[in-house]
Amino acid sequence: MSTFSGDHSFCPECGCVLPLPGLEETVTCPRCRFTVSIHEFADKAVTSSVVFNPLEASSFPKEEEEEAELKGPVIDRRCSRCNKEGMVYHTRQMRSADEGQTVFYTCIHCRFQEKEDS
Ligand SMILES: [Zn+2]
Ligand SMILES: [Zn+2]
Repeated sequence: MSTFSGDHSFCPECGCVLPLPGLEETVTCPRCRFTVSIHEFADKAVTSSVVFNPLEASSFPKEEEEEAELKGPVIDRRCSRCNKEGMVYHTRQMRSADEGQTVFYTCIHCRFQEKEDS
């Protein structure tokens, strides 16, 4: 059971809670004296709905992840693919704590990735 009964309507002029309709066909706002037909706001209560536009949050560009690979200390390691020096050093904890860390080296020139288990 909801605590909001749906019996209350709000004044379209000032937003305050309107009194419950009595014998008369209109309800008068106690604050601004705005008068609403009880039939009118019964319709409004039914038709008022919020339309949601769900945002597509699942489409992350893959480039962002690749850029993250290049953040970190650059060491003088020679890339085994392009044979140039300069690779970004970063570690990644594996899922299991027993397996220890795996060290990744990403070439800053060709983005070739090597890994070494420590
Ligand atoms: Zn009002
Ligand atoms: Zn390379």
